[in-house]
Amino acid sequence: MNIKFKKLNKTIVNCKKCPRLTNFIKKVSLEKRKQNINEKYWGKPVTGFGDLNAKLMIIGLAPAAHGGTRTGRAFTGDKSGDFLFKSLYAIKISNQDFSKKRNDNLKLKSTYITNILKCVPPGDKPMNDELNKCSNYFIKELDYLNNLTVIVALGKVAFDNCVKIYKKKFNFNKKLIFKHGKKYLLPDNKTLIASYHPSPRNVNTKVVTSNMINKLFIKAKKIAKI
Ligand code: SF4
Repeated sequence: MNIKFKKLNKTIVNCKKCPRLTNFIKKVSLEKRKQNINEKYWGKPVTGFGDLNAKLMIIGLAPAAHGGTRTGRAFTGDKSGDFLFKSLYAIKISNQDFSKKRNDNLKLKSTYITNILKCVPPGDKPMNDELNKCSNYFIKELDYLNNLTVIVALGKVAFDNCVKIYKKKFNFNKKLIFKHGKKYLLPDNKTLIASYHPSPRNVNTKVVTSNMINKLFIKAKKIAKI
């Protein structure tokens, strides 16, 4: 890992800028979920991971309470991650169709996965000042990934917050509407693609299917030239 990312990730993991979230992570990690009661939770903010030469970035809003916050890796150890990685494996972005824990030999091809907010918020609802504070880390990730050309935002909230950060950074006012599969050109020439979140609720109600997500990532791969 290069020095810039090492430094950034160290800062993120030790960050306590949002007391409400720091306390919530502590609570989640001590109370635990029944099926993980004997596990030691990561219990800290969760950094992004993947190929640092990535052309494609996949973003969610925040780590899950018993997924990323437990395992220490985004989209890892929960049902959303299970669904996502089946798709990423099917379209040859990942070398395995599961993401269970850090150091499980998962490798991503030209892809980096992260969340806009690095700490899980209560009820999955962050406050504006928390998003503002954390956006600096996301901006750094964008700056450090020099080859990045495509961002896939999983879920409307991740999409809207990515747009908000771009609006602030580049001072642009175009309205970008969330619609699954819709793509937009951002002011720095990256392409932003909106996708439904692969949450159990969306999957169980067939709002999102493997076919839909596979198609979307095939499109993203093509634009990113992966
Ligand atoms: S949400 Fe971001 S800024 Fe807030 S404590 Fe977590 S890592 Fe720090």
